[in-house]
Amino acid sequence: MSKIVMKTPLVEMDGDEMTRVVWKMIKEQLIEPYVELKTEYYDLGLVHRNETDDQVTVDSAEATKKYGVAVKCATITPNAQRVEEYKLKEMWKSPNGTIRAILDGTVFRKPILVNGITPYIPTWTKPITIARHAYGDIYKNTEMKVPEGAKAEIVVTDKDGNETRALIHDFKSGAGIVQGVHNIDKSIESFARACFNYALDAKESLWFAAKDTISKTYDHRFKDIFAEIYETKYKEKFEAAGIEYFYTLIDDAIARVVKSSGGFIWACKNYDGDVMSDMLATAYGSLGLMTSVLVSPDGKYEYEAAHGTVTRHYYKWLKGEKTSTNPIATIFAWSGALRKRGELDGIPELMRYADCLEKASVQTMEDGIMTGDMAALSKLPNKKAVNSEEFLAAIAERLGKLMEG
Ligand code: NAP
Ligand code: MG
Repeated sequence: MSKIVMKTPLVEMDGDEMTRVVWKMIKEQLIEPYVELKTEYYDLGLVHRNETDDQVTVDSAEATKKYGVAVKCATITPNAQRVEEYKLKEMWKSPNGTIRAILDGTVFRKPILVNGITPYIPTWTKPITIARHAYGDIYKNTEMKVPEGAKAEIVVTDKDGNETRALIHDFKSGAGIVQGVHNIDKSIESFARACFNYALDAKESLWFAAKDTISKTYDHRFKDIFAEIYETKYKEKFEAAGIEYFYTLIDDAIARVVKSSGGFIWACKNYDGDVMSDMLATAYGSLGLMTSVLVSPDGKYEYEAAHGTVTRHYYKWLKGEKTSTNPIATIFAWSGALRKRGELDGIPELMRYADCLEKASVQTMEDGIMTGDMAALSKLPNKKAVNSEEFLAAIAERLGKLMEG
């Protein structure tokens, strides 16, 4: 069989620890036998980020803007302990944060469903995708403790120096706390457009929810921006695709989500998305089965696994032990990126290959062969926990058959 030839290079962002080990195995065993891989390689491993003063992260994000599609391995976000461990020049920022800021992107997280692993809510027979607005609100807040007798106000000074004031609270009867948060229209607009584009791409309806009944200016602004962009730019496209957009109060959204069968996209404000994406990951099963894609408002894509570098497994691997690290979310990052590349470049064989890779992965798990994290959840009677190498070999075998067929 001749290998599938690519046109435009895929931006490849290598990473750290156990996921870096798994990354190489996936390429060698599952991809390179079928695809003449054409990537522009960026080593985002912490050692190389440190050597380049983190310039490599910026360069990889710029390359994503240029080529349109990237696939990223999990990376270490340094803390004090990592600075020591890797003898870093600086506590470099989170690569994901840097890339997100450059692409002005929104993160979509979607679980992979497999027979045998039943979500805690058994009626969720289709995946629920969460879109989290990754700018502002409490993540860029200013907060203070306030002593008794003090008065807290919001003061906005316009460009001519005129002040507008509003009382937050008069703390005359006791001490307390105060917090200031903000968001910007442009960021909310980018978020809305990324959500509408993603929904059209996935052919799934989009829900957006906030607390506009209580937050009549702040949350209401989000609601209005979504509504305006939808009415003027997306309504017709949504109708043609047979999907819908609707806004509802966050309380109502929660009730609907729990009673739903899945198969839609749920756009969330920053905090709601943070909390709800963790809730969904747990409710659907394992973090090893959660995929993630960063989408910019002008349609650039960066695919990755939602989990981290699985440090504990890496230290076992360094001692020569076999680990049962789940490669599924990383495999789906590759398949997602290759499918998108195939779609943009008009290479149907590449899209078919991506489908086969995903199918082979799911088939393997449904045949009862899986890594330890999934075996702990699976209800299949014939389930068998294997190490990563054995698992990849079982996927490779099925992939070979599917590609022949
Ligand atoms: P983590 O790497 O996701 O791992 C947390 C635990 O979850 C693991 O110890 C493991 O549990 C389980 N787990 C996660 N992924 C798994 C997989 N594929 N297969 C099997 N088990 C899996 O999170 P962390 O330990 O908090 O962070 C480790 C490093 O990753 C940190 O340096 C952090 O900065 C980085 N990180 C990067 C990203 C990213 O690049 N997007 C995201 C999150 C964290 P057991 O140990 O019980 O087996
Ligand atoms: Mg969270």
